[in-house]
Amino acid sequence: MEENRQQLHIPRSVRLDRIVDETPSIRSFWFSDTTLHQASPGQFAMVWIPGVDEVPMSVLAIHGKSEAGVVIKKGGPVSTSLWEKKPGDLFWIRGPYGHPYSVGHHQKLLVVGGGTGLVPLLSLLVHFRGRDVTLITGARTANELLFKEWLINDSKEHHFKLLFATDDGTYGEKNQVPKVAEEVLQKEQFDAIYTCGPEPMMKKIYDLAMTAHCHVQVSLERVFKCGVGICAACVIGPYLVCHDGPVFTERELSAMPEFGNTRRDLSGKKIPLGAGH
Ligand SMILES: Cc1cc2nc3c(=O)[nH]c(=O)nc-3n(C[C@H](O)[C@H](O)[C@H](O)COP(=O)(O)OP(=O)(O)OC[C@H]3O[C@@H](n4cnc5c(N)ncnc54)[C@H](O)[C@@H]3O)c2cc1C
Repeated sequence: MEENRQQLHIPRSVRLDRIVDETPSIRSFWFSDTTLHQASPGQFAMVWIPGVDEVPMSVLAIHGKSEAGVVIKKGGPVSTSLWEKKPGDLFWIRGPYGHPYSVGHHQKLLVVGGGTGLVPLLSLLVHFRGRDVTLITGARTANELLFKEWLINDSKEHHFKLLFATDDGTYGEKNQVPKVAEEVLQKEQFDAIYTCGPEPMMKKIYDLAMTAHCHVQVSLERVFKCGVGICAACVIGPYLVCHDGPVFTERELSAMPEFGNTRRDLSGKKIPLGAGH
């Protein structure tokens, strides 16, 4: 058992089986790895591109017996070099790591995602089968809605309520995700809210949850170096996001003045949330 746990920390190579264009700027990369396949919703892997860097990525494990995936938005150096990989290429992973969403026994659930934040929420939806779930997700415009077809089919098959929002109104409601969540929360009471996406969006969802006196779980993003709670690059309030999170509850979030306000750049300096590296 201890030996198995230590194995998690050693980067292992995986060969890409298939790559899917999900939106113009987001691709999913699928490979076989029985360890990552068993990750809990909200856990992450450290993905290493030798000579470039290593970054955390949410794990998606919703198909097959050993398949796992990462879903990558093209941006800076690491994400771009991953994005350009082809089937048959190798990359290196370690993990899964981190404190996942707690699935609990709540029955009436609101799930709110934005951008690649939808990735851990898909695994969560699979765990929530049979419960009364409403999912809200959005994007700037229709062709940027991530996993649209999968969600439409899954919502029909597993009977959950699905609400899309786009900023330009090209699909679903012409509105921003927190506004749609606010409307939903004015009409219905939920036992718990689960969210992942851009931090300003999650802060609004957290505030709505506090107003509605509703339990909330939020998955935070920070710079992770070690990924295992040693280097403290991801310190926030009294917590290390990689080790104590990335998923936190309202009690923990209330002890983080940084939540929704500041983060640390690559040197560890505190900077406003929206500022670059
Ligand atoms: C728990 C968690 C889950 C994530 N899941 C996803 C996901 O599913 N899909 C996705 O596209 N992104 C995800 N991210 C974000 C991802 O880790 C990178 O921040 C993102 O890919 C940006 O990298 P980049 O190469 O585009 O660099 P830029 O944002 O341009 O940053 C420049 C450089 O800074 C360093 N850097 C940037 N972000 C981080 C980081 N978080 N930790 C350590 N070093 C960093 C890297 O060297 C990077 O090349 C997740 C982050 C966290 C914390």
